[in-house]
Amino acid sequence: VLIAGTLIGGVLIIIAGFFLAGRTLVPIRIAWEKQQQFVADASHELRTPLAVIQSQAELLFRHPYATIEQESEKISAVLKETRRMNKLVADLLTLARSDSNQLEIERKPLLLDRLLTEICWQFAQMAEIKGVALTTDLHPGIQLEADEARLRQLLVILLDNALKYTAEQGKVHVICRRTSHGVEIVVEDTGAGIPAEDLPFVFDRFYRGDKVRTSSDGGTGLGLSIAKWIVEAHQGTIRAESKIGKGTTFTVQLPGKK
Ligand code: ADP
Repeated sequence: VLIAGTLIGGVLIIIAGFFLAGRTLVPIRIAWEKQQQFVADASHELRTPLAVIQSQAELLFRHPYATIEQESEKISAVLKETRRMNKLVADLLTLARSDSNQLEIERKPLLLDRLLTEICWQFAQMAEIKGVALTTDLHPGIQLEADEARLRQLLVILLDNALKYTAEQGKVHVICRRTSHGVEIVVEDTGAGIPAEDLPFVFDRFYRGDKVRTSSDGGTGLGLSIAKWIVEAHQGTIRAESKIGKGTTFTVQLPGKK
């Protein structure tokens, strides 16, 4: 009986060990697979601008006596891809640092309406050139404890997208108001919209809509994942609502004093 009891006990301990190890190893495996995917996607995204830079530089090298127009065409292609790579590398660094908790959020009191007025002002010229009406409804005196640089980065991502995906004669409207739990920032546009089946993925790393994937607008598909990280680092939430052909609304909710 003693031997049988010891054997059964041993078997039970081994089974429990495997069960517990399985439960703890699964999240590690998922995190590892996610990391692998991130590295693979990043390498893939970096290869495209690099290939363009290499081919244009080789052409310039092989045909040094081409016309000035042909030369400047190639040089501007190299510059455009270099800028794209710079942005991509900066975005990748932000995400890699946020993954390893190396990015600190430095909270300081700031006036949200003032920050939004300043950023909208910076985008006013871009909106005018595009023929898009940029309007605001900013409740005055909303104070918030937040990292100003990161909040600026978040708002720039949302406004840049709203203008990028809204055609001439469209509208972009920015709202900031108090809510019962804190503050709410809304960026709504009357642009292209996002298909319902794509909406759950817009905050995923490297996700880009079908139509824009092949375009040369310099997007990286990392903007909204950085936006999500910034909002969550401030214990807030971000959501997207959209109707194809009608427009998109991003709503950010941040906790704050009443
Ligand atoms: P990027 O803009 O560089 O492609 P983002 O992460 O900022 O990457 O956005 C991911 C995708 O979400 C975009 O490629 C686009 O398809 C879609 N998207 C984001 N914002 C908007 C918007 N305001 N209107 C329509 N589509 C949008």
